[in-house]
Amino acid sequence: MSIGVWVLGDQLWRQQAALQSCPEPVPVILIESHDWVKQRRYHAQKLVLVWSAMRHFAQELEAAGWPVTYAIAPDFATPLRQWIEAHHIHELRIMQPSDRPFRHLIATLDLPCTIKFLPNNHFLWSEADFQQWAAGRKTLVLEYFYRAGRQRFQILMDGKSPVGGKWNYDAENRQPPPTHLKPPSPLRFSADQITKDVIKTVTQGNFATYGHIEPFYWGVTRAQALQVLTHFIEYRLPQFGPYQDAMVVGEETLWHSLLSPYLNLGLLHPQEVIDAALAAYAERQLPLNSVEGFIRQILGWREYMYGLYHYLGADYCQQNFFQHTQPVPAFFWWSDRTQMNCLHHVLSQIERTGYAHHIQRLMILANFALIAGLSPQAVENWFHSVFIDAYDWVMQTNVLGMGLFADGGRLASKPYAASANYIQRMSNYCQGCAYDPKQRVGDRACPFNFFYWHFLARHREVLSHQGRMSVILKNLDKLSATETAAIQQQVQRWYAENL
Ligand code: FAD
Ligand code: SF4
Repeated sequence: MSIGVWVLGDQLWRQQAALQSCPEPVPVILIESHDWVKQRRYHAQKLVLVWSAMRHFAQELEAAGWPVTYAIAPDFATPLRQWIEAHHIHELRIMQPSDRPFRHLIATLDLPCTIKFLPNNHFLWSEADFQQWAAGRKTLVLEYFYRAGRQRFQILMDGKSPVGGKWNYDAENRQPPPTHLKPPSPLRFSADQITKDVIKTVTQGNFATYGHIEPFYWGVTRAQALQVLTHFIEYRLPQFGPYQDAMVVGEETLWHSLLSPYLNLGLLHPQEVIDAALAAYAERQLPLNSVEGFIRQILGWREYMYGLYHYLGADYCQQNFFQHTQPVPAFFWWSDRTQMNCLHHVLSQIERTGYAHHIQRLMILANFALIAGLSPQAVENWFHSVFIDAYDWVMQTNVLGMGLFADGGRLASKPYAASANYIQRMSNYCQGCAYDPKQRVGDRACPFNFFYWHFLARHREVLSHQGRMSVILKNLDKLSATETAAIQQQVQRWYAENL
């Protein structure tokens, strides 16, 4: 009788809790289930990334002396049962999955051994820690959680005060892009034989995929993920802050880290990412606005989204505060079907890479979905299908809560709704667009404008109860009745032509 470990596809770290709980190597299994990924469409590069990283990790474990079984099968249960029997496993150890659907799946497997879950150690705050922080609080806003994290882990702290005297430097970090911005090129990798084999599996398999499978530039090992981290700290972190919210045609990553795919697979741990940023801050005197801005993403937003996902529970995904029901337009899947320059650029970038940076996700994609009244559940499903770093735990609160305000404000103090004005200020997308960012109605009116005003008008009553919306709603009163009617007509025409 022996112990065995099942390593899930997003737990690819030697120190993950289930492996760590075994002082000596024990039988380990990793499973590529093809039926599991047929439940929805995925970006072709996401399948390549996950399966190639799993195959590489299996090799690394084997080289370190662990008896590894790598199964490729329709389902999980069949190879698991065979392996349990062959190795006389009496106790199967699994690190607690991050995603709820996977927990449900394991609960239905009916395996001939006991299952022991080890608490997930891929995050700095455990689920229990978060529950304790959240219990009894009137508000769950990020800022308080982030400050608690800074204090708890003593990160960028000077005793009880934040280093530099301020908790955040957003005011310095929201600069519009100047012309001739020259960010460093991202680090790219060529596909090795394992990745090429996976590309073949995905291309020849009967999978409903989205996007281009090649060129595939992502790292697939911990060693490569560490190289991306080092490259980021050296070349991108110093300027991370100022243009964090900017969007520029042809500069798809700017100074963003591109670390989410690796963090979410377990190839990197948040603590080592934070430590690397802190070390560079201490040794090279990097600007505090950039270092703090970056650390807030990892220590703040990432941990917060994970904690909230488990705290808010299984019903959260059904929320639809505004009762929005429109379907996702076809051009969300095929970028060449829209003449909206901003959406066209962001969508075609996602088709090619599976990546968009935060403001592209929030202020172009989610903003459009929100003001155009698309169904939150359809939009979340779309986000899950097209992004390389998408997982249930990170999608729900980001898309439904932050992006679409579908939870009525559990985490955002007001909806992130914006007209073309914001996009024109923070990007150069509007230059050369078929639409005019200044027009609200008419043939060349920018859809972000008529949808924005239509959104405010039709939800005026509920929005008036959201404290930070009152100034914005006052602008609505400045619209004439004729213009309001014209906006209404324009919206209906757009729906008829696009949905
Ligand atoms: P950087 O800008 O360099 O930030 C550094 C790291 O901080 C990221 O790698 C990520 O790990 C973390 N981070 C920053 N913001 C968040 C956040 N809001 N939630 C969680 N982690 C955060 N992130 C995902 O990992 N997967 C998703 O599927 C995803 N979907 C999103 C959908 C919407 C509508 C929004 C608004 C945000 C979404 N995010 C998602 C969060 C964020 O946009 C991405 O983590 C980030 O853009 C990844 O690029 P980067 O690694 O270059 O990030
Ligand atoms: Fe986007 Fe409107 Fe600007 Fe065109 S004019 S790029 S649609 S915001």
